[in-house]
This record gives sequence, structure tokens and C-alpha cells, in this order.
Amino acid sequence: MTRALVAVAALGGTISMAPDRSIEDGVVPRLTAEDLLGDLGAHLPMDVTAATLAGISSASMDYATLLRTRAWGLEQVAAGAAGLVVVQGTDTLEETAWFFELTWPHDVPVVVTGAMRNPSLPSADGPANLLAALTVAASPRSRGRGALVAFNDDVHTARWVRKAHASHVEAFSSNPAGPLGLVAEGSVHYFHPAGSRAAAVPVDNADFAGLVPLLEAGIADSGELLSLVLDAGARGVVVAAGGVGHVSTGTADVIATADVPIVVATRTGAGTTFRGTYGFHGSESSLIKVGATMAGWLDPRKSRVLLQVLLATGASREAIEAEFRLRGDLD
Ligand code: ASP
Repeated sequence: MTRALVAVAALGGTISMAPDRSIEDGVVPRLTAEDLLGDLGAHLPMDVTAATLAGISSASMDYATLLRTRAWGLEQVAAGAAGLVVVQGTDTLEETAWFFELTWPHDVPVVVTGAMRNPSLPSADGPANLLAALTVAASPRSRGRGALVAFNDDVHTARWVRKAHASHVEAFSSNPAGPLGLVAEGSVHYFHPAGSRAAAVPVDNADFAGLVPLLEAGIADSGELLSLVLDAGARGVVVAAGGVGHVSTGTADVIATADVPIVVATRTGAGTTFRGTYGFHGSESSLIKVGATMAGWLDPRKSRVLLQVLLATGASREAIEAEFRLRGDLD
């Protein structure tokens, strides 16, 4: 049987961190992709090619790095890779996976992973997560499933996955949908067949300059902060709203006068925004009437990445509305 070729890109994160007392107390990104693969031993059941594209904490992830990684991935596919693995920090791993889901045009899977325990700790989870990601990426069963996250032997789709714990090794959750599958005895098992994917957003000439803030609604919210970011020239704003998409009357007043896209997502961590149940000033129906775009099932972070990608590619207001309806599963 021919062996699958998997291409691995290392971007940094806890999985690649080691102590360096000359720089800081604590661990910092130092290990290369080859170092990480070396920890897995010599006998992998797939061929692997590796590149170290960055060495950053994932809090510093940016679109320049993501676009560079995507361009590297396209080259690997052209060179025959059956799957890609992207290794990075866990803090923004869900955003990277979602960026690839939105922009990846191939059936070749992109599998993102990392670690919660750095390599100097007992039971470091990096090697097991990397092996699981390689297993998922190499499997023909993963084709057509877009961007995936392999972590703690679960396989998540980029669409639902969130970092849901600050320190546990079981840090990722796809609540309320649940994981897509799991890795056991060197194989990936999926619970459902692959579904159809929305068309990839072409980002070749994308311009990610400018601010797209994410603001969270809460008590004593006058709308002043939203006003400030709009006055500062934000290209668009995501509001993490209460419940099914509710904001204060002050914020509703500002949304009504905004001339850039305002996306309203739920801050609850599960569930969808509504369209027409509540009617008070600041309710979902009142925000829709003044032109807000509802995020549906997309959480605020995924909404922000989608809005950034759409604004960077010059999408019209109608196209933004349509993409959120499609990707947020709104009827
Ligand atoms: N704690 C993080 C991690 O899990 C650090 C980062 O996201 O880079 O990798």
C-alpha cells in the first residue's frame, strides 16, 4: 500500500515551548517542526515533510502568518500532500482552524493541533496530539471535511470547536454539536459521512488592514465603547450580545447609526441568535430592522474571523449578510 504524504507546519505554541532562562522565566517557543516530529520516533505509518513557519505564542497569531501558512499549504498539495497538519498554540487555535475552513479550496484536510502541557512537564500531550493529527491528515476518510482539530484523541470540525478550558488537556469542546470523530488504535473514526462545504472565500488579494473589534455586551453598557470604535474607523464590529442577540438601548441607538457592518452574535457559548421573538428596543428583531447582521450559531470569535475575511476580500453588505446566513445556519 502506498504511504500517504503529510506536510506539517509548526507555528509555535505550548507544544513547541521549552525553558530558556537567558530570556525569561518560564517556557518560550523554541522547538522546530523537526524537533516535534523527532519526539514521535522513527516509524510513522505515513511519510512526513516538515516546515517551521513561525515560533510565536498563538495570542500573536495574525493574518500575515495565516496567509503564509495557507500559501505553504497550497504548495504542499501541489507537491502531492494528502493532508496538512498545522501546529500552533491553543489559545487561538479555533480561529486558525476556522480561517482555513473559510478559505481552503481543496478536499485535502487541514488538521490543526497543539498541546496544553509543554514538553518539559510529565505526561506532555504534544506528541500524542501530533500523532493523532498526522493520523487524521493521512486518512482518506478525512477528505472533503475541510479544516479539523485533532486534540486529546477527539476530532472536531472547525465550525464548532472552541477552547473551553484554560488548562485541562481536554481543553476543546464542540458543544452543542459534539465532536466529529475520534482516533483509536492508529485510525480515525467518523460518526457521520462528510457533508458538503460552502465555497472557499478567495483570499489571494485580501487586505486585512484596519480594525474589526469584538465588543461584549453587559450591564451598564451605554454604547459609548461601540461609538468610540466606530469613530476610530473600525471596518466592522462584532457585538457579543446577550442571549439570543440582545443589547442595551444605548448600544441599539449606536448600531442604528453605524455605517459599517455590525454583526450580532450570542455571548452564551451555545445556541443561536433569534430573528423575531422579542420586540423591545435592543432586541434581535429591532437590531435586524436597523441593519444588523445576525450570526446565527456562529460564536463571537468565529463571527469576527468571518467578518474580517469578508471585509478583507471586499464583500458587499449583501454578501456579508448571505455568508452569515449560510455559515451561521440561519434559515
Ligand atoms: N497556552 C497556549 C498554548 O496552549 C499558548 C499559546 O496559545 O501559544 O499553546
